[in-house]
Amino acid sequence: MPPPVFRFAPSPNGDLHLGHAYSALLNFELARRSGGRFLLRIEDIDATRCRPEFEVAIYEDLAWLGMSWETPVRRQSEHLAAYRQAIDRLSEQGLIYPSFESRAEIVRLVADKEARGAWPRDPDGAPLYPGTAKSLLSEERGRLIEQGVPFALRLDMAAARAGHLRWREQGEGPAGETGDVAARPEAWGDVILARKEIPSSYHLSVVIDDALQGVTDVVRGQDLFWSTSVHRLLQDLLGLSPPAYRHHPLIRDAAGQKLSKSTRATGLRELRAEGASPADIRRLVGLP
Ligand code: GLU
Repeated sequence: MPPPVFRFAPSPNGDLHLGHAYSALLNFELARRSGGRFLLRIEDIDATRCRPEFEVAIYEDLAWLGMSWETPVRRQSEHLAAYRQAIDRLSEQGLIYPSFESRAEIVRLVADKEARGAWPRDPDGAPLYPGTAKSLLSEERGRLIEQGVPFALRLDMAAARAGHLRWREQGEGPAGETGDVAARPEAWGDVILARKEIPSSYHLSVVIDDALQGVTDVVRGQDLFWSTSVHRLLQDLLGLSPPAYRHHPLIRDAAGQKLSKSTRATGLRELRAEGASPADIRRLVGLP
């Protein structure tokens, strides 16, 4: 049997905090204990938010924690053609359509819907896409694209006919879901898979990279538990075999809030500047 493959996949859009340290160390140790491989992947498709200095800081912080990883590191921004190809493949299956509403227009459309009754929200609490772009005629689409109107490429959830997919969960979801979990991709509505200026999205590139890199075990925070539904669907549509998943509890601050990249108090750099050692960090996240 080939060795299991684990990965830590941060986005370089801020400094790492204790939650990242926990996730990275957990992956690293599960790999070590199982004689597996450990990969680091830089999820930097969003050029407007990612910066090279954050990427350098990620390498420094992880090395300081005592971790090492295989090189070369996969940087998503260097593989846009692979994501574009997947979009083409979904498009050929008739599963993708462009929507042209701006964010402000979408907010207004949702407000209209909500004024007339409840409008569904996704597992993260965001309203589902309320637009009607799916029914635009192809000449109209062509005209808008030609005019240079920005667009998002969406997955036509109804056409994708998800409904029977499951995944193997070795950790736990927010309500204790574990074992053989039924995916519910339709709960996300017509998710965005790419934009005019970025030919991919988190959902699309994470699925392609995990498959291309032969990742067998995805170990990540519980906040991404229900995203796995979309990932299972994309794996199914693109003919990729699914890894096993282990979603771990999130590290929270003293007030019980999820950590964010902008909360200074729990940033690895700040803790280190205050004299914390790698052993202190392990203690703070509850690792032996
Ligand atoms: N890049 C994602 C993040 O930083 C994590 C992706 C994943 O582990 O699936 O939140």
